[in-house]
Amino acid sequence: AKQHGRNSYQWYTEDLNEQVNERLTLRSDIQKALEREEFEVVYQPQVDKHGRTIVGVEALIRWNHPEKGPIPPSAFIPVAEHTGQIFPINLWVMETACRYIKRLNDQGLACPSVAVNISPMQFQRPGFAESVRSVLERTQLDASFLELEVTENALLGDAEHAILTMYKLKKLGLRIAIDDFGTGYSSLNYLKRLPIDKIKIDRSFIREIISDQHDAAIAQGIISMAHHLGLPVLAEGVETEPQFAFLKKVHCDAFQGYYFGKPMSFDALTDFLHENQST
Ligand code: C2E
Ligand code: CA
Ligand code: CA
Ligand code: CA
Repeated sequence: AKQHGRNSYQWYTEDLNEQVNERLTLRSDIQKALEREEFEVVYQPQVDKHGRTIVGVEALIRWNHPEKGPIPPSAFIPVAEHTGQIFPINLWVMETACRYIKRLNDQGLACPSVAVNISPMQFQRPGFAESVRSVLERTQLDASFLELEVTENALLGDAEHAILTMYKLKKLGLRIAIDDFGTGYSSLNYLKRLPIDKIKIDRSFIREIISDQHDAAIAQGIISMAHHLGLPVLAEGVETEPQFAFLKKVHCDAFQGYYFGKPMSFDALTDFLHENQST
C-alpha cells in the first residue's frame, strides 16, 4: 500500500509540474499572440423578443495559434486572468469591437449595440473607467452603443469599489449587463444597488429547459424577478425552436444562441446584417 501511495504521489507531482509548465508556455504564447496580433474578434447576433430583429452583437475573442491551431477562450482566459494579461486583451477586444461597429453604422447597417466581456478583477483596477472612456474617444463610437458584460463575481473582493466603478462607467453613457446570471457568487441583495440595464440567463439553465422542470422554473423565476426590478432579460445558448418558444411564452425579452446565429467574423456579420435588412 505504501509503495502504491508513493507512486501515486509521484504521478501527482509530475502531473502538477506538467500543468505548471503548460501554464508558463501559455503565458509566453499569450504575450507573443498580443504582439503578433494572433487574436481575432467574432460577433454573435442578439435578437429581439420576436426573434427577428437584431438588437446587438456580443464580441467574443478567438485565438488561432500558429502551431497549435485554434485555442478556445476557456483554455486561455483563466490563465490570462491569473497573469494579468487579461487587462490588455480585454481592452484590445473592446477597441476592436467598437471600431468595427462604428464602421458598420457609418455604412448604414444597423447594429444598435455591441457587448464586450469584462473580467471581475477589472473593476478593482484603478483607471478602468478612464481607459474605457479613451477607447470610446479613439474609436469615436457613441457610448450608447457599448454594453459591458460583467459576472456576479465582479462583486467578490472590494464590492464597494466595484459598484463605484460601475457608476463611473454608467456616467459615460454605456450599458451594463449581468452575464451568466445565476451561476456566480449570488448577489441578489446587491442587485438593486447595481446600476445595471440587463440580465443574461446562463446557458446552463437553457440547455435542458424543455426536459428539466427545475431549469424551467429557475429561468422563469429569473425573468419574473428581473421584470419586477424593471430589467429586461436575454437568454443565451438558445439552440432549438422549442427552447425559443418556451422562453417567448414566459416573456423573455431577447435571445442569443446558435438557433439565431453563431459567432461569426466581421465580414460574415456584415453580410448577415445586409440580408436581415433586406428581408
Ligand atoms: P460567455 O460570455 O457566456 O459567452 C457565450 C459563449 O457561449 C460563447 O463561447 C459562445 O460561442 C457560446 N454560445 C453561444 N450560443 C451558443 C449556443 O447556442 N450553444 C452553445 N453550445 N454555445 C453557444 P466562447 O466564445 O467559447 O466563449 C466562452 C467564454 O469565454 C465566454 O462565455 C466568456 O466568458 C469568455 N470570453 C470570450 N471572449 C472573451 C473576451 O474577450 N474577454 C473575456 N474576459 N472573456 C471572454
Ligand atoms: Ca458574455
Ligand atoms: Ca454569458
Ligand atoms: Ca455563459
